[in-house]
Amino acid sequence: MLAMARSEIVVFGKRMLERSLVTGTGGNLSVRSGRRVALSPSGVEYEAMKPEDVAVVDLEGRLLEGGMKPTSEMSLHLALYHARPDITAVVHTHSPYACVLACLGREIPPFHYLVPLVGGKIPVAPYACFGTPELARYAVEAMGEGKAALLANHGMVSVAGSLSEAFRVAETVEFLAMVYSRVLSLGEPRVLTDEEVDQVLEAFKSYGPSRATVAPFEEG
Ligand SMILES: [Zn+2]
Repeated sequence: MLAMARSEIVVFGKRMLERSLVTGTGGNLSVRSGRRVALSPSGVEYEAMKPEDVAVVDLEGRLLEGGMKPTSEMSLHLALYHARPDITAVVHTHSPYACVLACLGREIPPFHYLVPLVGGKIPVAPYACFGTPELARYAVEAMGEGKAALLANHGMVSVAGSLSEAFRVAETVEFLAMVYSRVLSLGEPRVLTDEEVDQVLEAFKSYGPSRATVAPFEEG
């Protein structure tokens, strides 16, 4: 399982770079399996990253399996896993438009129908220096039961039950942050009402790929 997690971290790390969610060695990702967490390494170029560079720690951050030194945001990842037993993956990016809003301290309200999919709104955690327990605590508090939060003057963090889903949330947040930033330059959007948000959530329950079946022909 952790061999798979290590490969996944390498694949999605490269994808973060390709999709411009990070630059250089910024951002980081992790996958939890039980009480073990595989974390992307600190300061390693995504293009050069190999599965064996990915270290495995326990939920207290004690090294279980070597690799390169884990990300400087390890406390952020571990705090989220402690607070949210329902999640098994964390993605942290410095995607440009999420950073724009994070630097303004502006949360993203449900101004677009996709916002409810990543939480009732996308909150902003107050500023704290990267790598500190304060940043981890603020992120946990801001995130609540949602799937994403902006980190003031820094970036964005998303969580989910799989790395592919946490990555999808990170991409959706960046799209929404881009649209919201542009909307704010032109005016103030109308924000969806609670009823409209509930309707979207209900409609999404039956959304997604599934096989279309033809009802059996009935003679009669
Ligand atoms: Zn960061």
